[in-house]
Amino acid sequence: AALQEGYQHFDPRAYLQNNYLPPRADFSSEEFVVPWKLRCLAETFASGEIHGRTLIDVGSGPTIYQLLSACDHFEEIVATDYLAVNREELGRWVRGEPGTFDWSPFIQHVCKIEGRGEPWQEKERRLRDRLRRILPIDVHRPDPLGAPLCPPADALLSAFCLEAVSPDRAAFARALAHVGSLLRPGGHALLLGALGESFYLAGAARLPVVPLAEDDVRTALTGAGFALRDFRSYAMPPALRTGVDDVDGVFFAHAQK
Ligand code: SAH
Repeated sequence: AALQEGYQHFDPRAYLQNNYLPPRADFSSEEFVVPWKLRCLAETFASGEIHGRTLIDVGSGPTIYQLLSACDHFEEIVATDYLAVNREELGRWVRGEPGTFDWSPFIQHVCKIEGRGEPWQEKERRLRDRLRRILPIDVHRPDPLGAPLCPPADALLSAFCLEAVSPDRAAFARALAHVGSLLRPGGHALLLGALGESFYLAGAARLPVVPLAEDDVRTALTGAGFALRDFRSYAMPPALRTGVDDVDGVFFAHAQK
């Protein structure tokens, strides 16, 4: 209940500013956190092993960076979020309405690290074209979308959501199992998330986060019926500890159901 109340004050603009502008979104060096996240995803999708009809992104928030490498490998991307303000922000970006957040530096960077010489506007167009559904979701419900996804997703992505909406590790593990039910057996799951974080700010909202250790993530994945394929972690450098949260690091996990 306290978490739900906290999210009523979540300000998408402030969240974007805190996490997706410099110093965290600095593309001049791979040592910054945003380029690290984008590289994890680009390298994982570059194998060509992860593809299919539908990819679902859980707790998309107001962001699309996490879908930039994914969108080349799926016919449809389904974005989801608990908050209408975030779903609306995404909808405005998909429709290309003026005044939305400028993701072009992210798109340019991903095109660069993917190294195919693709003009960034083409990737932007492809993602807008494939992001056809933006659905409400609550990961605390065994049926997070309120109805089963038919057919189930071929891949599942979730970035900085499950630990940011769970009061403790048990709730995190249950939420992971709930969202795992949206994925077909054999499907791939990609998780990005915060390590050792107890809160983050998004305007007037101060959201509690369950502080996770690397092993908590591995244990939750195994418990939810996943086989771990890859696990990476990033230590937050002092220059990026800006006070918008108390994150120690970031994990990336690739697992298969
Ligand atoms: N994926 C984005 C946003 C993460 S912020 C990124 O990588 O930056 C956490 C998100 O979880 C917010 O958008 C918030 O609205 C959403 N959220 C809050 N409660 C939730 C719930 N019960 N189920 C699913 N998502 C929830």
